[in-house]
Amino acid sequence: MRTPIIAGNWKMNMTPGEAEQLIMELIPLVKNATCEVVVCPPFVDIDIVGRLLVGTNIHLGAQNVHWANKGAFTGEISPDMLQSLGVTHVIIGHSERRQYFGETDETVNKRAKAALELNLTPIICVGETLEQRENGVTESIVSKQTIAALAGIEKMDVERSIIAYEPIWAIGTGKTASAQEADDTIRVIRKAISGVYGEETAERVRILYGGSMNPKNASELMAMPQIDGGLIGGASLRAEDFSKVVNY
Ligand code: PEP
Repeated sequence: MRTPIIAGNWKMNMTPGEAEQLIMELIPLVKNATCEVVVCPPFVDIDIVGRLLVGTNIHLGAQNVHWANKGAFTGEISPDMLQSLGVTHVIIGHSERRQYFGETDETVNKRAKAALELNLTPIICVGETLEQRENGVTESIVSKQTIAALAGIEKMDVERSIIAYEPIWAIGTGKTASAQEADDTIRVIRKAISGVYGEETAERVRILYGGSMNPKNASELMAMPQIDGGLIGGASLRAEDFSKVVNY
C-alpha cells in the first residue's frame, strides 16, 4: 500500500509574514488528514514555516536543492542547509526550472542523488509539453525523464523517491489532464521504473499528479489506481483550497 501524499508548491509566492498567516490557517484545517501533507515554501520562508510546523502533521519541503553541500555556487542552497532547518522533502526538476533555469535530466539526477544522501525525499517532476503530447511522444518523454532522473540510484532509494507527473500544458493553466489520461501516463512511468528496477520497486514508488489540481477535481484524480497524490501549485496558496484537496 502506498501512502497518499499531497504537496503544496508555493513557487515564488509569500513573504515570511504571509507564509506565517497561511500556515497558521492551514494547520487546524488539515490536522486530521489521512494522507501525508507537505508544504514547499520559498527558501526565505523555510525557517519561520519550519518553526510553526513543529508538532504538526505537516512536513516541510523545499523547491530545489544543489548537489554540493557547500562551495562557490552563488544563489544555490545545499542539502545540508535544508536538513538543518528541518526540511524533509524537496521538489527537483520542476518544469519551470527546466524551462527557465536550464535544469537538465543530468542536473536533476545530481540533485536527486544529493538529496537522498542526506535523507531528503526528492519529489522529481517529469512531464511533456503540449507539442510533445500532440506529436504522440508523451510516453517516451516521461519514461526517458524518469529513468534519467533515477540513473545510478540504488533500488532502496528509488523506492523512497517520489515522482510527480506534471504535464506542462496543465500547469497553472486551469487545464487538467483527465483522470484517465493522468492515470495512463503514470502507469507508463511505473512501467519504465519496473523495466530497470523490477516490478516490486515500481509498485512501491509513489507517483503524484500535478497540473491545475484543485478542490473540484481532487477526488476524481485521487480515485485513480495509479495516482498516489498531488503536487499542487495555485491551489496551495489558499489554506481553504489546499485543505480541501488534502481532505479529498
Ligand atoms: C506545479 O507548479 O507544480 C503545479 C501543479 O501548479 P498548478 O497546480 O498551479 O497547475
